[in-house]
Amino acid sequence: MADAERIPGFATLSIHAGAKPDPTTGARATPIYQTTSFVFDDVDHAASLFGLQAFGNIYTRIGNPTCAVLEERVAALEGGTAGLAIASGHAAQVVVMHALMMPGDEFIASKKLYGGSINQFNHSYKNFGWNVVWADPDDISTFEKAVTPKTKAIFIESLANPGGIVTDIEAIATVARKAGVPLIVDNTLATPYLCKPIDYGADIVVHSLTKFLGGHGNSIGGMIVDAGTFNWSRDRKYPMLCEPRPEYSGMVLHETFGNFAFAIACRVLGLRDLGPALSPFNAFLILTGIETLSLRMQRHCDNALAVAEWLSQRPEVAWVSYPGLANDKYSALARKYVPKGSGAVFTFGLKGGYDAGVKLVSNVKLFSHLANIGDTRSLIIHPASTTHRQLSDAQKVQAGAGPDVVRLSIGLEDRNDIVADLEQALTA
Ligand SMILES: *Cc1c(COP(=O)(O)O)cnc(C)c1O
Repeated sequence: MADAERIPGFATLSIHAGAKPDPTTGARATPIYQTTSFVFDDVDHAASLFGLQAFGNIYTRIGNPTCAVLEERVAALEGGTAGLAIASGHAAQVVVMHALMMPGDEFIASKKLYGGSINQFNHSYKNFGWNVVWADPDDISTFEKAVTPKTKAIFIESLANPGGIVTDIEAIATVARKAGVPLIVDNTLATPYLCKPIDYGADIVVHSLTKFLGGHGNSIGGMIVDAGTFNWSRDRKYPMLCEPRPEYSGMVLHETFGNFAFAIACRVLGLRDLGPALSPFNAFLILTGIETLSLRMQRHCDNALAVAEWLSQRPEVAWVSYPGLANDKYSALARKYVPKGSGAVFTFGLKGGYDAGVKLVSNVKLFSHLANIGDTRSLIIHPASTTHRQLSDAQKVQAGAGPDVVRLSIGLEDRNDIVADLEQALTA
């Protein structure tokens, strides 16, 4: 890149951000630094690394050069100041909350979320004394009403799993700003190719890299992106960031690290003490996946729109919830937030209810019946009998996973083959 002023485009960043030829060997692909630990230059170097006076590698639980390329790449794609790679999407959520919440604190979450997140927030977080308050993304006033002096964050998904829901990020960011708390956006289903939440006021973006970013169904991973936008010291509500840290000789992370203090807190407090490090091998596979993100996401979206249109003409189908359909209730929000396409994950309802859903997932041949999304392969699941079965019936319906609902994650196969498989399974 001869002209240093030029900001590279998205596809270029997907391939190059964070990476350069290996200085020792000239290797062009990012090497897998499969090592637990890194030799210090001398005692002073070790002391400065441990005291956070110098950046560098110590131990792979806290950081690794392969993971560092992935961190820089996803941060560049999202427009954030820094990233932190984590073992899974769920671990990313725990590490974010660990930096923000003290026992007895509350956060507000959209009730239209991935079923696993609903479980994590409702049950596991209780052990830490972190209390979730649910709000309805279709009625922004429910977010405003949920704010209390104990609120420390708001959590939403951009495109919400199990699919077909577009969240009004900008409107909820306004609520967060008024409440003086950060907005966390799970951008797993959209990816930064379709939507960049930071452009609409998100302060923290989290990802399950397991899905479209990795893209090939071969590695679990997570990411935290710090937008660098939130003032952690203003109301002194975030002791991990604005109070002296005893383990770093009284250093105040927000004072020392400014607009990437949140990513640092997640690394040197969360990752260090909770321990969910991403393996360098998974980081390598996910980096390879990201190189083709823009090509894959566009094909995922184009295939998904064609399948959604086809399904909406079928006599067996009661409804299709895909924001890319012209008459969909989220189509205006989709035009604003995901103009290139509404993603590849969506739901539809079968007139035959629960039994028809079970029959359909049993009869598909090209589609795989499994609990994942964002693979090259087309995937199908009946949430009521699988991913969302732990939820109460009312929660199932609230989360868009009622008994008649089937969820698809449309892959990259030929469109005619995807449709032909659904046709034979619907009429079997
Ligand atoms: C899968 C998923 C997660 C959890 O990620 P893991 O990598 O499976 O831990 C979180 N949010 C969304 C939207 C997901 O689809």
